[in-house]
Amino acid sequence: MSEQNPYQELSKLLGAPASKILPPIIEMIVDEKEIKIVLAAFPPATIAELADKTGIAQEEVQTMVKTLFLKGLLFFSKKEGDPRYYRVKTVPQFHDSSILWEGATPEFHKLWKEYTDQEWSEFGRVVEAFLPRPPIRIVPVGATIESRAKVLALDDVREIVNQARNLAVTRCTCRVVDGKCGKPVEICIQVNRAADYGIQRGTGRAITKEEAMGLLHLAEKEGLVHIVDNRQKVDHIICNCCRDCCINWKLPNPRKFVDPSRFQALVNEEECIGCQVCLDRCYFDAIVIEGQEPKARINPEKCVGCGVCTVTCPTEAMAMKEVRPPEVIPA
Ligand code: SF4
Ligand code: SF4
Ligand code: SF4
Repeated sequence: MSEQNPYQELSKLLGAPASKILPPIIEMIVDEKEIKIVLAAFPPATIAELADKTGIAQEEVQTMVKTLFLKGLLFFSKKEGDPRYYRVKTVPQFHDSSILWEGATPEFHKLWKEYTDQEWSEFGRVVEAFLPRPPIRIVPVGATIESRAKVLALDDVREIVNQARNLAVTRCTCRVVDGKCGKPVEICIQVNRAADYGIQRGTGRAITKEEAMGLLHLAEKEGLVHIVDNRQKVDHIICNCCRDCCINWKLPNPRKFVDPSRFQALVNEEECIGCQVCLDRCYFDAIVIEGQEPKARINPEKCVGCGVCTVTCPTEAMAMKEVRPPEVIPA
């Protein structure tokens, strides 16, 4: 493969210049003409501009951009005038968009699994140096927070759903590719612009607020961790993550990418019967059961405030307490 190979070039633009697996992944779903369009789609360009840049006839470009949108390599915006198309920007974005393409084959998913097993850590190591702050954050399971007065809208997945203009459910790409945990797959909730995108592309199914609440309930019962964009207003997705398949936990330093919530688990020792149910629920090894009369104890260094341990405690001995004040989160 020469340095000029366009699949390698796109891999480099996605942030993985040394990848051996990403170029074949791209090549598997994009032919030689299509990759020209993808590479030309930055800065965002109209059909006429893409035709001009690539030498491909406008009518053909018109058909190709539709296909590339469905494959998850092109997006478009229509602020004013003709729509402008722009290419996928990062490996994680390409991971999520391409895996859900309805034409994706088991071989394609297998190659993504190879990528996440073999090269994803290295990608994380390089990218973490450039991140100003973690791009996503954990939102706690809210039912057992000790004082509801301390819960802001951005700490509460149900409030995020309540305030949403549009909602869709989509499949969890990590479990589509891996899936060894056996947890529900169609359970990630797209919010507003992401829901518009998913519904238009056919990768999201429109849902009501009641259905979204039902999915949150199922996620909590299954012990999945809620993760959202690390912004004040969630306008993208509520991910419901498992321990086994989630690519976030496979990064060398997950805390560089995922902020903990403002809460931590708190054990009421009077009520705790040392049954260990919470021990199995915690992904983060933050709980130990110890003492002559065994009780659960929380390691504050490890607890990320997901609240998953609180859901199934038989004596309601586990609650969540606020440990950090609301910080200034970018809009
Ligand atoms: S980040 Fe979590 S919910 Fe999102 S795709 Fe991965 S495991 Fe699924
Ligand atoms: S599940 Fe509840 S009662 Fe059981 S060990 Fe954990 S905190 Fe204690
Ligand atoms: S102890 Fe574990 S499961 Fe409970 S809130 Fe902390 S990280 Fe989550």
